[in-house]
Amino acid sequence: MDDRKATVDKYVGTITVRLPKAWPRQSIAWGERAEQVPDHFLRWLLGETIANLEGHEDQSITKLLGYLQTLRVEDASKGFDGPYFELEGSTETNSVRGQAVDNGIDFEITMDNDTLKVVTGEDQKGRRELIQEMSVTFIHELAHFKQIRTWENVSHPWPRTFSSGGANTGIPFKDWTPDVQAAYTEFENAGTGKAAKGDPVWRRKFKALANVEYYNPKRGVDLRGRELVSHIIELVYEWRSPERFAQTFPKCKALLDRVTG
Ligand SMILES: [Zn+2]
Repeated sequence: MDDRKATVDKYVGTITVRLPKAWPRQSIAWGERAEQVPDHFLRWLLGETIANLEGHEDQSITKLLGYLQTLRVEDASKGFDGPYFELEGSTETNSVRGQAVDNGIDFEITMDNDTLKVVTGEDQKGRRELIQEMSVTFIHELAHFKQIRTWENVSHPWPRTFSSGGANTGIPFKDWTPDVQAAYTEFENAGTGKAAKGDPVWRRKFKALANVEYYNPKRGVDLRGRELVSHIIELVYEWRSPERFAQTFPKCKALLDRVTG
């Protein structure tokens, strides 16, 4: 099996893998498939995820990957080891979680006792689902990463000077730039002519964006401006139809085009 090392090396300089104590620590014996060892499995998973995203139809996704690749090339030419990725195995959560920082992305990947069958390959369906979930999280965090680096802030799609602060509680809607406000309103309204109203993917993505974790006026929290582009690109990933997205969400597409460059 292709271990995807060449694929990962194009984009990522350093990978740190952390495994929970509960996971087995078997070593590789001759003839054993390397991706069945948890440490290798997580690297393999990253490679499968990137290969999956490389094959996506939408340019905004390939452009974000291209940005990561450019950073890797720049870093390598200076003798640096970035971008830095961390892959942490977890027994705590029931999903893939990500966190973009200014020099890379950290992932927390659940492998409870059942999903260890995913590692051994006994559960092939589970493997495919994990790659899908990792792909959605990866592209979400890559959108954050690009914004953090471009505008030197906490992932709002505008310069830090436009509105400072808001790292913990975010920035209220009235203070966003007009194009971000327009894109949010369009997303909220299910697009032009409410064309996406009955669409379950749109409903799920919008609900996640307007969740109390990101928007809680009573507590003065508004992180929707920070999260908007990452949730839009999740929709783009799942729809797999650039034409449908452009027709339904022209303002969101304009914002995405500005962010992906
Ligand atoms: Zn996010």
